Amino acid sequence: KMDMLTVEIVNKWMELFYEKISEKKAYLSELDTPIGDGDHGNNMMRGMQGVKDGLEKLENPDLKETFKAIAMALISKVGGAAGPLYGTAFLEMAKNCEESQAPADLFRYALDGIKKRGGASVGDKTLVDVWTPVVDNLGKDELVVEVVQKAAEGTKNLVAKKGRASYLGERSAGHLDPGAVSSCYLFESFIEAGGI
Ligand code: ADP
Ligand code: MG
Ligand code: MG
Repeated sequence: KMDMLTVEIVNKWMELFYEKISEKKAYLSELDTPIGDGDHGNNMMRGMQGVKDGLEKLENPDLKETFKAIAMALISKVGGAAGPLYGTAFLEMAKNCEESQAPADLFRYALDGIKKRGGASVGDKTLVDVWTPVVDNLGKDELVVEVVQKAAEGTKNLVAKKGRASYLGERSAGHLDPGAVSSCYLFESFIEAGGI
């Protein structure tokens, strides 16, 4: 199975993610309230507005330029902990997309970048808990929405080891991780865009 990302698919992906973030902005910030500072939805919305504006400015971009524009917008607009992490993910895809356009490869580079940047491992109650099963799954099976959603839901009972939620220690358990949920939307959008 040879799935290759194209500029068209990535644009569609970002359009759908923008819509999903618009819809879920309040909910994501609500999730970030008991275990964080209540801004994750607003952060992601600012970022995706930046991505939309950035992509609209490009003329006949190739895949590398497209990923780079997304990364730059996320890094400069999302802010907080999530901005540099999502930004790094897309920067890694930009760096490696000449070698391979397969999502399985590109998402693995992205995840490695996220882990290096944030120092989080699986089970730390972060977006790594969604990216990891996605990458593992893409190596074996077709990625389905259920896998992504289950991964996000799985963060609920975890104790946070990284990010603001970790300041709460054991009290962080019982709440979904907002970054895991926004990453769930990212991959739902990816599937809807026909990325796999
Ligand atoms: P901030 O916490 O700075 O306000 P956001 O609210 O936008 O930033 O993003 C919080 C999310 O970022 C968390 O829910 C978590 O998924 C993710 N996150 C925070 N720190 C890390 C880290 N070190 N590694 C991976 N993900 C992290
Ligand atoms: Mg926050
Ligand atoms: Mg913040």
